[in-house]
Formats: sequence, structure tokens, C-alpha cells
Amino acid sequence: MKRKVAVLPGDGIGKEVMEGTMKVLNAVADRFGHTFEFHKARIGGAAIDEDGQPLPDETLRICKESDAVLLGAVGGPQWENLPGHLRPERGLLGIRKELGLFANLRPVTAFDSLLDASPLKADRIKGVDMLIVRELTGGLYFGTPSERRKDGNEVVDTLHYTRSEIERIVDQGFEAAKKRRQKLTSVDKANVLESSRMWREIVEEKSKAYPEVEVEHMLVDAAAMKLVQHPAYFDVIVTENLFGDILSDEASMITGSLGMLPSASLRSDGYGMYEPVHGSAPDIAGKNLANPLAMILSGAMMLKYSFQMYEEADAIEKAVKEVLDAGYFTSDIAGRGANALSTDRMVKQVIFQLEEDNATAGIMEAYA
Ligand code: NAD
Repeated sequence: MKRKVAVLPGDGIGKEVMEGTMKVLNAVADRFGHTFEFHKARIGGAAIDEDGQPLPDETLRICKESDAVLLGAVGGPQWENLPGHLRPERGLLGIRKELGLFANLRPVTAFDSLLDASPLKADRIKGVDMLIVRELTGGLYFGTPSERRKDGNEVVDTLHYTRSEIERIVDQGFEAAKKRRQKLTSVDKANVLESSRMWREIVEEKSKAYPEVEVEHMLVDAAAMKLVQHPAYFDVIVTENLFGDILSDEASMITGSLGMLPSASLRSDGYGMYEPVHGSAPDIAGKNLANPLAMILSGAMMLKYSFQMYEEADAIEKAVKEVLDAGYFTSDIAGRGANALSTDRMVKQVIFQLEEDNATAGIMEAYA
């Protein structure tokens, strides 16, 4: 299978982790007989320097002509004092909007070999394997622009959703749950908010189309507590923009390292943009120290959600787990008795593991 991928390394460590991820994807392509055509484009600070704006038209064109987008990270101190419309983050918000990406998916996995990196007790996080599905383009962050105002001592923000906006994100939640452990927790504030009451109603309606998925409703305050008290309880959480923003950051702390967290932003047709949760990390940029695993795992999400290459995605996830189990860590997750690997060495280790697994699979097939 041939697939076109827009590659937007961005700034800082975004560039470093992207190089390694393309190598890993090429190794997977070789093993499974695919071709990934990578088309590089600029975004964020790199685009401000070269093109005078954070999201050039050329970048958007390349993204729209591709089957999926990989994004590294944007931002850095050199662009912090620019006017709002010229800030690197504008590139990110702009691209999500232009590509119509309304569903943000963030998996949180507690790797056994990293349990002690978490601020929570190891026995509490063992077995955590959840996915947070957050609505990304509606709710309080967008509201009704004409109603948003500041008059002297009075400020107004509005929370606005249409039925179809809620339906499409709830569908994403059910679809994800169907492919995982068939449990969906819908998080809202239905005891207070009208929008949450409609959200609940829609979840109930949609649940009829997914009889195999067990559904529960949970108030956002209860969900915030449960996430630290018993995070392994959750399979898929689906929620609106503001609640999802806060809960997904809370949940991301469970793993103990930003360098381990991938994400996807999708539309209904499966097109998506895949990026690590972390930023451009100016403090370590250019030093070959960044953990590339969040970006590599974002690449695995692209294979799964945009290309339906499930076996290929599993191969990457398995190789990452095995590399960690074998005691290989980058400096952000080191301190477990190992010498920290550079970014490049970690990438090589993952590719080596993919090849080892391939060879083992070949031997098993030969004896089958
Ligand atoms: P950050 O995620 O870049 O870094 C926070 C800390 O985590 C730093 O100490 C960094 O060294 C470490 N870290 C992050 N990713 C790592 C990795 N892969 N391996 C090892 N260590 C890692 O957040 P920040 O410092 O608050 O922001 C830096 C810049 O990135 C800012 O300009 C910010 O606006 C931007 N940012 C961009 C995105 C994005 O592109 N999606 C997200 C967050 C922040």
C-alpha cells in the first residue's frame, strides 16, 4: 500500500524526533510491503522565519494533498514576543481548524518498566491503558464570537454546541471503545449545564447503535478524582473541549514523562494529524537528548487510525515496549539503573527490535 504523509517537524526537538520517526515508519514499510511518501513542510517558528507566517499556504496545500499529517512541535523563546497572529501556536490552531480536526485522541499507557517514573504509587497505575477522546473545535473555547465580551468589570464567554457537533464526537468515542475493551465513560456536568444534558441525551441515543459497548455517565469532578484514585478503571473517556483539556493533562501525568505521550486529531473520514503531547523543549533542543517515543507512538496511531494498518501499528507498540522492558531509556525516563540513550540511539534500538521481532516471526512461521 502506498500512502502520502505530510511531515511538519516544526521547531526545537520536533525536528529531532521527526527524523527518527520517519526511519521507524520506513522500517515498518519494508517489513510489511508498504511505501510511505513523506512530504516535508514548515510550520510554527520555522515557518515564521522562512515564510513570514506560522502556517504558510504551501504547508496547508501539502497537508490537504496527503493522506495524513505528522507534526513534531512548535514554539520557542525566540518567537515569544511576536504579536498574537504571528505566534507559532497560531500555526497549530490554524491547521486544526483548516483541516476540520474535531476529535483529539490521547492514549495513556502505564508501561511496566516505567511505573516508578509516575508521581502516583506503582500499584495504583499498574495496568493503566486508557484513551481520552476530547472534542476540539467547540464549547467554551470557541463559543459564539459575537457574545464573547469584556465590558468594564463584566466578562462573558459562552459555551456553544450544536447537536451534530456532539453526535460526531460521541461517535468517535463509541468507535474507539468498540475496538478496545468496550467500555465508554462519558464525562459531563449534567447536574449544572444545559449543554451537558444534551450531551447525555445523545450518548444514550447513540448507545443503541453500539450494544456491545458498556456506557456510563460520570460528572467531571468525580472523573478528576477517579483518575488519580483508580486510573486503571477507565477504558475510553469521551468528553467536551474544556473538560477534555484538563482531564487529558491530568491523565498525562500518570506516565511520568511527557516524552512518552502520543496524540491524534481526527475528522470523521479517518484523516488525521498525529503529534506528541510535548512541546519543542528548547532546554534540550539540538542536543540529541529528546525522547523520540511519543512521536514514534504518534506514527503508530497514524497507521491505526488513518491507514487501518493494525498489525503494523502493533509491531511498533510492541517494539517500544520491548525496548523499555530491556532497560533502554532516554534521559527523561532514565534513573532506572541504565545509562541514558541519545535520541538517535533510541531510534536505532526501536528499529533493531522491529527487525528482531520480524526475524522471530519468520522463524515461527517456518516451523508452523
Ligand atoms: P515542553 O513540552 O516543550 O517541555 C517541558 C519539559 O519537558 C522540558 O523540560 C523538556 O525538556 C521536557 N520534555 C518535553 N518533551 C520531551 C521529550 N520528548 N524528551 C525529553 N524531555 C522532554 O513544554 P514547555 O517547555 O512548556 O514549552 C516549550 C515550547 O513548546 C513553548 O514555546 C510552548 O509554547 C511550546 N509547546 C508546543 C506544543 C505543541 O507544539 N503541541 C505543546 C506544548 C508546548
